[in-house]
Amino acid sequence: TQTLHIVGAGLAGSEAAWQAAQAGVPVTLHEMRPERGTFAHRTGLCAEMVCSNSFRSDDDEKNAVGLLHWEMRAASGLIMEMADRHRLPAGGALAVDREAFAEAVTERLRAHPRIRFVPGEITDLPRDGQWIIATGPLTSDALGQAIAAATGRASLAFFDAIAPIVHADTIDMDIAWRQSRYDKGDTEDEQKAYINCPMTRDDYEAFIDALLAAEKTEFHDGETAGYFDGCLPIEVMAERGRDTLRFGPMKPVGLTNPHCPEQKPYAVVQLRRDNALGTLYNIVGFQTKMKYGAQLEVFRMIPGLREAAFARLGGIHRNTFLNSPTLLDDRMRLKSHPHLRFAGQITGVEGYVESAAMGLLAGRMAAAALQGRDLPPPGPETATGALVHHITGGAEARSFQPMNVNFGLFPPIEARGGRRGRATRYPAYTARAKEAFGQWLLDAQG
Ligand code: FAD
Repeated sequence: TQTLHIVGAGLAGSEAAWQAAQAGVPVTLHEMRPERGTFAHRTGLCAEMVCSNSFRSDDDEKNAVGLLHWEMRAASGLIMEMADRHRLPAGGALAVDREAFAEAVTERLRAHPRIRFVPGEITDLPRDGQWIIATGPLTSDALGQAIAAATGRASLAFFDAIAPIVHADTIDMDIAWRQSRYDKGDTEDEQKAYINCPMTRDDYEAFIDALLAAEKTEFHDGETAGYFDGCLPIEVMAERGRDTLRFGPMKPVGLTNPHCPEQKPYAVVQLRRDNALGTLYNIVGFQTKMKYGAQLEVFRMIPGLREAAFARLGGIHRNTFLNSPTLLDDRMRLKSHPHLRFAGQITGVEGYVESAAMGLLAGRMAAAALQGRDLPPPGPETATGALVHHITGGAEARSFQPMNVNFGLFPPIEARGGRRGRATRYPAYTARAKEAFGQWLLDAQG
C-alpha cells in the first residue's frame, strides 16, 4: 500500500497516524518540533497539550464533548486510551498528567511498526502522494503562506475573532424579534436571518459600564501581530467612546420592534443565524477578550438574553484555520487538491478533543482511500458527524469561526417543556448518537 504522509504530530496528527497504521497503512509522520517550536509548545513530544490539562466533561450521557470521548473510545482512539491511562482526579472532567500522557502517546507511535518519524518543518504543499495536514492553530509561517496561496488569501485566517454563540431556543422572543436591517435579503428567510434585542438608554449605559469594568484575558507573547487588522474586541470599541458601539454593531437603525412599534430602541444587539439548522445564533460584532465568567454576566444583561444558554463564548486568538465550508468536501479533502486532507484545529474545530476526533476521522478516511475503499463520515446525529458536517457544509461560510462540539450542531430532538426541557433532551441525543456511531463502525468494517 502507498504511504500516507501526515504533517504535524499534535492531537490530530497523532490520532490520524495511529488510526491509519492500525488499519494497515504505512505512515510517515512529519513533525517540526523540537527543532522549530511555537509560542505555546514547550516540548518535542507528540500530542502536547499547550494550555489546560483537561479534555473537559467525561459525561457521555448529557454532554456533547463527553459523547465525543465515547465515540473515540469506541473507535479505539489512541488519545482517549492514553488519557484514560494517565487520568487525574477532577470530578466529572477528564484531566490528565500532561507530561506522562504526551510521553505515552509518543512512545506508542514510535513503537508502531508501520509508523516512521521524519523530523523537520514542511514548508510547501506537496504536489503528489496522499497527505493529511494537521499542523494546528500555530501552523508554521512558511506552510501557512503556502496554504494561503493554494486556497486564496481570504480562505485562510490567521486569527479567530469569535463572537459568542447562543442556542436559539433560549432567546426570549417576547422581547426580541426577527428582522434584517432595512428588511434586506431576497427571500423572507434571509429577511429574518437576524434576531434583534432592543435596549433603552438605561440598559445601554449599564451595559457599557459592565463592559468597561469586566475582567479581560491578556494576549500571549508573540500572539498579537496583526490583531488590529481584524475585528476589534467589543470592550476596546467601548473604551474608544461610550457611543462607539451605538454607532457601530449596536446601531438601532433600519429596525422596528413589533412588540413596541412606537418606541425607538436606543441601541440594538443583533444575532445572526450561525448554522443551516437555525439552532445557533452569533451575537454580531461581539468578539471579545473578556473572561468567560464576565462574558456570561455582561451578555445576560442584554434584554432577551437574560436566560440565554451559550454554545460557545467569545474570544480572540492566534489561530490558523481554513474556511472549511467552502474549501473542504465531506471527506475532509481540499476540493481543489483532493490528495490533501486536513485535520484538527486547522479545519475550524476548536479544542483538544475536537481536534483529535477530526484526526481520527481523517486517518480512517485516508487509510480507506489508500486501500481502495470510500469511507463516508458518520451521520450528523453523532458527535463526530455533527462536527464534520458543520465545518464542511452546515456552518455559514461568511461568518465561519472555529467551533466546539455542542448539541446545537445536532439535528434537533423536540423537547417537551420548552426552554426548560433542554437538559432532559440530552440523553436522547446521546443514545441516538451511540447507536448511529456503532453502526458506522460496523459498516466501515465492510
Ligand atoms: P497541535 O496540537 O498544535 O499540533 C500541530 C502540530 O503541527 C504541532 O506539533 C506543530 O509543531 C506541528 N507543525 C506546525 N507546522 C508544521 C510544519 N510546517 N511542519 C511540520 N510540523 C508542523 N484547546 C483545548 O481544548 N484546551 C485548551 O486549554 C487549549 N488551549 C490552547 C492554548 C493556545 C495558546 C492555543 C494556540 C490553542 C489552545 N487550544 C486549546 C486549542 C487546540 O485544541 C489545541 O491547539 C490543539 O492542540 C489542536 O490540535 P491540533 O492537532 O490541530 O494542533
